[in-house]
Amino acid sequence: MFEVMFLGTSASAPSIQRGLSAQVVIHKEYRFLVDCGEGTQRQILRSGIGFRRLDKILLTHSHLDHILGLGGLISTFARWETAEQIEVWGGKSTLDRVYDLIYGVVLRGARPSVNIELYEVKPGVLMEDDEFVLSAFPVEHRGPDCFGYTFERKSHRPFMNDLAESLGVPRGPERRQLVNGQSVHLEDGRTILPDDVLGDPIPGDKLCITGDIGRTAGLSQYIAGADALISEATYLNYEVDLARRFGHITAREAAELAFSSDVKNLMLTHISRRYREHEIAAEANETFPGAVVVRDFDHFRIRSGCQLERVEE
Ligand SMILES: [Zn+2]
Ligand SMILES: [Zn+2]
Repeated sequence: MFEVMFLGTSASAPSIQRGLSAQVVIHKEYRFLVDCGEGTQRQILRSGIGFRRLDKILLTHSHLDHILGLGGLISTFARWETAEQIEVWGGKSTLDRVYDLIYGVVLRGARPSVNIELYEVKPGVLMEDDEFVLSAFPVEHRGPDCFGYTFERKSHRPFMNDLAESLGVPRGPERRQLVNGQSVHLEDGRTILPDDVLGDPIPGDKLCITGDIGRTAGLSQYIAGADALISEATYLNYEVDLARRFGHITAREAAELAFSSDVKNLMLTHISRRYREHEIAAEANETFPGAVVVRDFDHFRIRSGCQLERVEE
């Protein structure tokens, strides 16, 4: 299960209702801030999610509407000393710009009281544990090194306690071994196989975030079957030529991508002030019924194979 909280859903410049790109993905103890547009600090406060453990920042690309909030956020972190380390992940050219922002503008030679780690993103797995994997995939937008991100909970087989009890498997390391797929030998000579105590596989959850994209070709391989896709929808189809010129896609293209990739839920963000929200929703829903145009502070739960679940604060 993942949760996502949208902190900013506007394209290029903020509007009265919408802040600049930022969203938080929550899974177990992990909290990832994906993009950090100007004003994100205040959005974090208003959302009520707080700064605690918000120490992993993933950037989709180097445009200012996605990174400028980092200056203020890092300045605050450095002053409060609430985190020991902040990780900023992004493509090479994104990190170059972030380096200039942090070291050239915010710190200017001062030693940060928090350890700032800049990690260069390459396509593939960035972070993995027993049941969770974070990976990056390349996308085309304006400029090099643009990435989308996939958050996946691996499919797993639940440990069936009653079966283990009835077979007399002792509580302790034997159970962990079985969960890890190894058979165990009991003192009475019997061998217990993982299949004896593990239930049917429960499929994992998959959430993909594209960031800004100028075309959808080639993306299906990364987002196929996702339980939720967060896509930009900066333009409407009647202005598709503008979308091409500025390296964005239309609501219809986002919906077609989700539909053809067998995505279960579609959330549209990076919303332009050129249009009314209902026009964007209507265009996307023609191809992908149920597509949602998200707003700042929308908070959703994403579960494998389920409809989006709105979390009311
Ligand atoms: Zn943007
Ligand atoms: Zn952009």
